[in-house]
Amino acid sequence: MAVAYAQCFDPSGARYGIPTFPWKLAPDGFATRRQLRAQGLRPGGQPVAAQLMRRSRRRKAGVSVAFLYRVELALPVRPMTSRKWGALALAMLARRTCPECRLDAGYVIPPSLGMCVTCAYPEEQCAA
Ligand SMILES: [Zn+2]
Repeated sequence: MAVAYAQCFDPSGARYGIPTFPWKLAPDGFATRRQLRAQGLRPGGQPVAAQLMRRSRRRKAGVSVAFLYRVELALPVRPMTSRKWGALALAMLARRTCPECRLDAGYVIPPSLGMCVTCAYPEEQCAA
């Protein structure tokens, strides 16, 4: 037991490169992705801060690990608010509105044209 514990205990990260703690003995301030999610948080792009390790007979390496993230660096999971949806809709409308004729073209104005197709090719529209 003492040997297994030592194998899984490396708080300085000297052996594994990142701080390693035995299963269920993570220090305060660290949480797995799942634990963060339970608190309404997400890692937010931060690198893995530490890992939990336990011996596992099912794994080839003899251990299984779980990655830990720092809780203070975690970001809240923000659901899309109606305000955000409104802003998005406005942005989409702006992208669909032709600067030439000021009409909602019904599609996103191609950046290469900079205006709706009708304004970009008036002759072709007349010919058609
Ligand atoms: Zn137009």
